[in-house]
Amino acid sequence: MKVLVLNSGSSSIKYRLFDMAGLAVVASGVIEQIGEKESHLKHTSMPAGGQSEIIEKSGSIADHRQGFGMMEEILRQTGAIKHTSELAAIGHRVVHGGEEFHEPAVITEKVLKRIRSLVPLAPLHNPANLTGIEVAMEFAPKVVQVAVFDTAFHQSMPEYAFLYALPRKMYEEYGVRRYGFHGTSHHYVAKEASVCLGRPFNELNLITLHLGNGDSIAAIRKGECVDTSMGMTPLEGLIMGTRSGDLDPAIIFYLARQTGMGLDDLDNLLNKESGLKGLCGVNDMREIAGRAEKGDKQAGLAIRMFCYRLKKYLGSYMAVLGHVDGIIFTGGIGENAPLVRELCCQGLEGLGVVIDPRKNKERKEGCLEIQADASRIKVMVIATNEELEIARQTVKLLDAS
Ligand code: AMP
Repeated sequence: MKVLVLNSGSSSIKYRLFDMAGLAVVASGVIEQIGEKESHLKHTSMPAGGQSEIIEKSGSIADHRQGFGMMEEILRQTGAIKHTSELAAIGHRVVHGGEEFHEPAVITEKVLKRIRSLVPLAPLHNPANLTGIEVAMEFAPKVVQVAVFDTAFHQSMPEYAFLYALPRKMYEEYGVRRYGFHGTSHHYVAKEASVCLGRPFNELNLITLHLGNGDSIAAIRKGECVDTSMGMTPLEGLIMGTRSGDLDPAIIFYLARQTGMGLDDLDNLLNKESGLKGLCGVNDMREIAGRAEKGDKQAGLAIRMFCYRLKKYLGSYMAVLGHVDGIIFTGGIGENAPLVRELCCQGLEGLGVVIDPRKNKERKEGCLEIQADASRIKVMVIATNEELEIARQTVKLLDAS
């Protein structure tokens, strides 16, 4: 059974084709700079038992339709599929599912309409996700299409955790509440942790830290998310690559009055020019760590602030859960930056978290446990795999319908 997973952005399509029999990736690729003069496609074929092959193309790709057509042609030419009708399903990443979607959904006209109605909450993401779905439906009209939402895993948060202390009308009339994002990743690594620990998912209390260009943390009680750091939009919470995360909202009014910056300027400042980039000029943690090592004070301070904010959230989610079985690091930084893991867990011995410095530097496929013997709480590093999670949820929905 083959399942294609699509992640459509405003100028990109990322795809991965799975053979669900052995959960093997048959092919994957990315098409970037769609709509620009020079677009790029990079495709990797991974035939079972054969050598992987990379195909790259550059030139103008006018829109997602043309991009999808090129992907389909390459999948056929390389023998990954004979025709799109061979696909059991196409699973789409959809960023915002609002309050309507607690679970993945088979895409129907009604579902499309509901995703469209959520565009005001995710103006940058949902329109691109919708374009991807519409193009895929055109190319593969008989194939079941499934939407898997980034917000869905967080829909189990209780009202006292998801509401903001604003007049209730703002929630009821405008949908202002915490939704949370990266849900597919938090869900995936939490389930993987339950496999590693050999304990049922619905008996575990876990804290998952997704640390990449965007960063978020989730508190999971007995398999259900009860709190997460991203809010109505992905701007809230931790310090991120270019996003400020938490700040006093009055700073926005102050800056508007003092500098004359308009709403779009402020939006750009907080989403694109702040976070690590705002603090030290770059948003790539590898470069920041390298600079800090060479004595760059601003880079050192940026890492310290990043880890301090993380530690504050970690401590608060330990309080939320009361008892914690495991803390899981994932994402580009969570998986690859031992320094960040070390700083964020430093001084938490009294709360039952002790990292073994040697294990923290190891690398391992699957689940790497980095806690010391004295640690009451397990601390794990698990690589995220959102595409596989989308494929699995897509198949689960097919099986159930
Ligand atoms: P992601 O958004 O999950 O792809 O993560 C991107 C972030 O991971 C960037 O800030 C990268 O600098 C960071 N990253 C990737 N590899 C490493 C590494 N070896 N050490 C530190 N940070 C890394």
